[in-house]
Amino acid sequence: MDLYPRDRIEQAAGAAAKAGLDALLLTPGPDLRYLTGYDTHVSERLTCLAVPADGGAAFLLAPRLEQRSVRGSPAGAMGIEILAWDETDDPYRMVSQRLGSPGQVGLADTMWAMMVLAFRDVLPGAKLALASAALREMRMRKSPAEVEALREAGAAIDRVHAQVPELLRAGRSEREVATDIAAAITAEGHVRADFVIVASGPNAARPHHSPGDRALTPGDAVVVDIGGTMPSGYCSDCTRTYAVGTPPAEFARYYQVLKDAQEAACQWVRAGVSAESVDAAARDPIAAAGHGEHFVHRTGHGIGLETHENPYIVAGNTSALEPGMTFSVEPGIYPGPHGARIEDIVVCTQDGHERLNNASRDLIIAGG
Ligand code: ZN
Ligand code: ZN
Ligand code: ZN
Repeated sequence: MDLYPRDRIEQAAGAAAKAGLDALLLTPGPDLRYLTGYDTHVSERLTCLAVPADGGAAFLLAPRLEQRSVRGSPAGAMGIEILAWDETDDPYRMVSQRLGSPGQVGLADTMWAMMVLAFRDVLPGAKLALASAALREMRMRKSPAEVEALREAGAAIDRVHAQVPELLRAGRSEREVATDIAAAITAEGHVRADFVIVASGPNAARPHHSPGDRALTPGDAVVVDIGGTMPSGYCSDCTRTYAVGTPPAEFARYYQVLKDAQEAACQWVRAGVSAESVDAAARDPIAAAGHGEHFVHRTGHGIGLETHENPYIVAGNTSALEPGMTFSVEPGIYPGPHGARIEDIVVCTQDGHERLNNASRDLIIAGG
């Protein structure tokens, strides 16, 4: 099982041709890593993988000072041509001279604007489009090796959630708890924590709350939504809702509605059902219980080399799920003065689904 197989660049070239693109230009980010395994930070110095759609040889251009890193990365073992540019060279022109005059090029979706405009200047005849036109379909369908990498990420974040109840003590601030959780995320095998949401009491009604000075108080519900990136490049993302001491009776009632809705949506997942039907499977029971207006976001998002990617589990996405698609199922109910969310990553399989997060979904009463 190879996480970054050698033939992926060839597949990408075929997908680019099918999408009407003459070449892909991929600067550091998830697309570059997907095709080569090369993980590097974007900077003002251009690093770019160029993939001609006509089957011509792909090449990876990188600054001279990065050559050891590139050649030591999986990209170096792939047999693609690696080119160096010196500080006095124009790397954009080096790319365009090799490409000739493409009619349409697909740029990495998150390429910096300064690079987009520089490519526009050296490729005046080319229409600029998004590389996702070619790569979205590939990246959405995970290989067994990718699913295994996401399984490892899910197990790692489950181990972090197992430690959360003891961190949630009345009197501690959200920020103190978040600092401890971030340390646990790396201690459990991630290379970094990507986000740590600790939303207590009224803050739990804000789905993307940033942890602050508020001290945990007996009776609080606390939404803990956390994730990080593993050495493989693949991401984790899991939410559990905890209570500090005994929560209000009203909260306990809708928490049960939420738990049942999240379960129903997970059970609905199988090959052939539409993405939007999974959203409906979560949303309908919540609406039937009178909380429709308090579920203010889509049910989920794809996950892989990025925390949020295709497919999106949202009304209007009529695409059918396929085996190997991985995404979150994360309904929430946020009536204020409290709120709740439960989130698991699931893999669509031929006859159902596999959950990659398996920490208990019961409301866990942490030490008040
Ligand atoms: Zn989010
Ligand atoms: Zn999520
Ligand atoms: Zn999340």
